[in-house]
Amino acid sequence: QTVYLNGQFVPMTESQISTQDRGFLFGDGVYEVIPVYQKQLFEFDAHLERLKNSLQATSILNPLTDAEWKKLLDELIQRHPWEDQFIYLQVTRGIQMVRDHLPADCMTPTIYAYTNPLKPVSADIIENGIKIVTLEDIRWLRCDIKAITLLPNVMMKLAAKQQGADDAILIGRDGLVSEGSASNVFMVKDGTLITPPNSHKILPGITRLVIEKVAQNHQIPLLEADITLDELLQADEIWLTSSTKEALPITQLDGKPVGNGRPGQIWQLLRQHYQAYKADFLNA
Ligand code: PMP
Repeated sequence: QTVYLNGQFVPMTESQISTQDRGFLFGDGVYEVIPVYQKQLFEFDAHLERLKNSLQATSILNPLTDAEWKKLLDELIQRHPWEDQFIYLQVTRGIQMVRDHLPADCMTPTIYAYTNPLKPVSADIIENGIKIVTLEDIRWLRCDIKAITLLPNVMMKLAAKQQGADDAILIGRDGLVSEGSASNVFMVKDGTLITPPNSHKILPGITRLVIEKVAQNHQIPLLEADITLDELLQADEIWLTSSTKEALPITQLDGKPVGNGRPGQIWQLLRQHYQAYKADFLNA
């Protein structure tokens, strides 16, 4: 397996970064995860836009032009045999020899990217959905930045597992649903799809964006609105969405069935439309 590091493709087993990298010492960096279908980057422009927003918000220099980003990722894809992949790409602020929270001026960012095979979601999950617990959202107030600093997400994922669940839906200090530990949340109530509005409290998910587009194209009623824990508990359907999992149906919430305890009808419908959207993109 080959990875991209600072302008070069090297075997993964040989790639090395400095212990003085601020990504390692401060978690001072941002990242993206981009799905690839039939060796084509999916929704690349939206992912690049979000990367640039994360870089700008953290005052990390964007080291490459749009065309250079595309070229390096395409080359990474072509160097691997898998038709469907997901790319992890990370930009940290760079290397600093003397410890200081304040970054030096004009640092050279560290650019790293690697790819993995993208496996379809298991038949068991498609058939039966997953179990979720609600947890307090213990993260910071700039979750719109895709920061590499993921310790709270890791802790919440572990807590969910300890409670026998597959994942967690996070409830903010304001009592409102924010998102999943690595996904956005949708619920269905009386045929309407509802998702929390974009804000500093959530990551503007690209899958969320595609689902909104697909729902609009097929006249599925859609609302961006705050969701309380009570409303979530009364939902007919709940989904978690992300680039690597698309939309996952949640069939159990805090030990109780969601709706009739089976993956919902609107989810089934949207899943078909989503696959058709992907097929159109690949044929375009
Ligand atoms: N929220 C969080 C916290 C995430 O980590 C992710 C996955 N990257 C998402 C939402 C979903 O974003 P996307 O659809 O762009 O993968």
